[in-house]
Amino acid sequence: MSQSIQTGSFHWMKSLNKSTIANVIRLHGPISRAEIAKLTKLTPPTVTNIVAELLESGFVVESELGTSSGGRKPIMLRINSSAFYVVGVYAGAKKIKAVTATLDGQVVRRAEEKVPANPGAEQFLSILVSTVRRVIDETNAPQKSFLGIGVGMHGLVDPRQGLSIFAPNLQLRQVNIREVLENEFALPVEVDNDVRALALGESWFGQGQGIGNFICVNIGTGVGAGIILDDRLYHGPSFTAGEMGHTTIDIDGPPCSCGNNGCLEALVSGPAMEARAREAIKRGEATLLAEWTAGKVEEITGEMIYRAAQHGDALSVKILEQTGRYLGIGISNLINTLNPLRVIISGGVSRAGDFVMASLQQTVEKRALQTPARECSIVASQLGPDGIAIGAFTLVLNKLFTPAGVGEM
Ligand SMILES: [Zn+2]
Repeated sequence: MSQSIQTGSFHWMKSLNKSTIANVIRLHGPISRAEIAKLTKLTPPTVTNIVAELLESGFVVESELGTSSGGRKPIMLRINSSAFYVVGVYAGAKKIKAVTATLDGQVVRRAEEKVPANPGAEQFLSILVSTVRRVIDETNAPQKSFLGIGVGMHGLVDPRQGLSIFAPNLQLRQVNIREVLENEFALPVEVDNDVRALALGESWFGQGQGIGNFICVNIGTGVGAGIILDDRLYHGPSFTAGEMGHTTIDIDGPPCSCGNNGCLEALVSGPAMEARAREAIKRGEATLLAEWTAGKVEEITGEMIYRAAQHGDALSVKILEQTGRYLGIGISNLINTLNPLRVIISGGVSRAGDFVMASLQQTVEKRALQTPARECSIVASQLGPDGIAIGAFTLVLNKLFTPAGVGEM
C-alpha cells in the first residue's frame, strides 16, 4: 500500500474532486469510470486521473467487470473499505467507550473504561487516551491504516475547535479534546456533542438513511436531539440546537438540573422515572420495585422499571406510559416546529418498547398538527448500544468524504 495515504489523508482527500469521486464510489460502487463522469459531471480525463490516484493510495480498488452496452466490459471500482479504519469514541459522564470500524461502518473492536465521579480534566483525558489506545492496539492493524478519531462528547461542544465547552455531568469546562488526541495519536480528530454525532450516524448507517429531514431524540440520563435539516446536521451559532431536554413541558413540574421547572428532561430521563417510582413507594403504592430492592428505593433503575412492567407491575406500566405521554408532547412540538419526516428515538427508553412507544404515538396523533404528523414516522433506533460511538466515527467519515462540509452546518 502506498505511503501517500497516512496521517495526512485528510489533506490528501481535501481536493474537492477527489473526495467527490470517492463519495460517488462509496455510494454507488461498484461503478465504472464512465458512470462516475456522468454522475459528477467531471470530464472523463479528470475522472481517470483522480481514480488513478485513488487506486495508487489503496483507497479504491478495481473489482469485477460490469455489464457492457456493447463493446468492452467496463472495469468497476469500489472503496477498499476493509483496508482502513476509523475510531469512534463515546465520551459519557460514567464511561468512555471506543470502537474501531471499517469504512463501511462495520465495528471491528470495542474497549470501555469507567469514569469516576468528578474526575477532573486531567484524569478524564487520561482515561480517554487509554481507551482509544487500547482499541487501536487490539485492532492490530498498521498505524497508517487508521484515518481518524471521532469523539461524541456529552454536553456543549464547539465542533469547529474540537472543544468541550461545558460537560455538566462531569463538571468540566473548556477541555480541548482535539488537541490532546491529535498530539497523542497524530491522527485527525473530530469532536461533536454525543447526540449530534448519533444523528449523523443514523443518517449514514441507521434509520435516517436516505431521509434529508429527521430528528434523532436520545433519552438517557439527559435528553437531547440531533437535527438533520435538508441533509445537513444543524448546530446553530452557539452549537446548542437540539437541546430539547430543556424545553418546558409543565410549568409547575419538578425542578430540572438547569434551574427551571418541568423541563422535558425532568419528566422523561432515566433519573426522572426513578424519582417518580420512589415517590410512589413513599406514598405506599404496592409495586414489585419495592420487593425487588427490599425497600432500598435508591437502587431502582430505569431498566428495572421496564422489567417490572413486563411482569405486569401496574406502577411501572403507569410510569412508562406517562413517560411516553410527556415525550409525545415534546415530539409534537418538534414536529410542529420543524416538519421532520422521521423522529428516531434512541437511548434506554427506546428499548422499553411498547409501554413508552404506544402512548408516545397516541399523544402525537392527538396533539401534533395533522399534516406534518401524518408525514412523520416515529421509530426506535436500531444502532444499539454502539450508537453514539458509530455516530462518532461517522464524524470522521463525513469529513473525509465530504470535506466541503456537505452533511454539516
Ligand atoms: Zn432543564
